[in-house]
Amino acid sequence: MSEIIADVKNISKQYGKQLALDDVSFRIRKGSIVGLIGPNGAGKSTIMKIMGGLVFPSAGELQLFGESGEKGLNHARTRSSFIIETPYAKNGLSARENLEKQRLQKGIPDKGRIDEVLRIVKLEDTGKKEFKNFSLGMKQRLGIANALLGKPELMVLDEPINGLDPQGIVEIRELLKNLNKEEKVTIVISSHILSELSLLCTDYVFINHGKIMDVLSAEQLKAECSEYYQIDTDNNELASAILTNECGIGKLEVMESGGIRIYEGLERIRDISKALYEGGAIPTVLARNEANLEDYYMKKVQGV
Ligand code: ADP
Ligand code: MG
Repeated sequence: MSEIIADVKNISKQYGKQLALDDVSFRIRKGSIVGLIGPNGAGKSTIMKIMGGLVFPSAGELQLFGESGEKGLNHARTRSSFIIETPYAKNGLSARENLEKQRLQKGIPDKGRIDEVLRIVKLEDTGKKEFKNFSLGMKQRLGIANALLGKPELMVLDEPINGLDPQGIVEIRELLKNLNKEEKVTIVISSHILSELSLLCTDYVFINHGKIMDVLSAEQLKAECSEYYQIDTDNNELASAILTNECGIGKLEVMESGGIRIYEGLERIRDISKALYEGGAIPTVLARNEANLEDYYMKKVQGV
């Protein structure tokens, strides 16, 4: 069992009459990259603000690095870094000048850290260029550099990909992957577009109307979104044996809800159907499922 870095337990948040979070629970494992996915207004920023101590929950409990209670959480938050509101940076300053200012404000003694973080986010060659002349992608990367100054073990990023062009999306994705792999940073990232995070995250938390709709791993998401044939026959036990032994299907799943799913050999369905029939398991259903990420997202967030 890997270490749990954050444990969100039955958290609700009421803003006046608005219930923004309704009994939300999920956990973040050390070393994971967790995608918090849901449409605008779902409650993503509220969860992140509660993790960062910018907003208090109305009910429930938060644990960070095994600590809880305000004092414990504040201590745990020194091991974390949160990019939730739009960046702090000054328009008239360069990347280095902005980071230097932040370093002093945060009381980080190591001057060399600025060069390190500039290199990590690939802004080391921007020289005197002022923040106001940065592309949105560069601005986001400077925000990440700032968050990295204090060598956090956990980074929470609220929609850092929002508004970026495809190239910018790839850059942030590669940067976060590297941070996770090389610097062992655990990451929580939100987006209202699943496909933007689909090549990045190890785990996904789907949220809508303040409720958790689903929590699943990247492998589970991949399985859910891959193409398959749903097969039903009048003898599924026999059918499984035929699919495995005669048709050489390795990726097959016998569903609790009935039927069998095959994830390979989809182009040979005619031969497979014939083999089942001739082997004595008469196919009654042969349905191709072309589920994709977008469909999955819509189903999840709409709860249908
Ligand atoms: P997301 O980040 O997923 O877009 P938010 O967490 O920002 O969602 O908002 C969740 C819900 O809470 C929305 O309905 C939003 O209007 C409401 N909300 C957020 N912040 C406040 C606030 N300070 N006061 C009142 N309502 C708020
Ligand atoms: Mg938000």
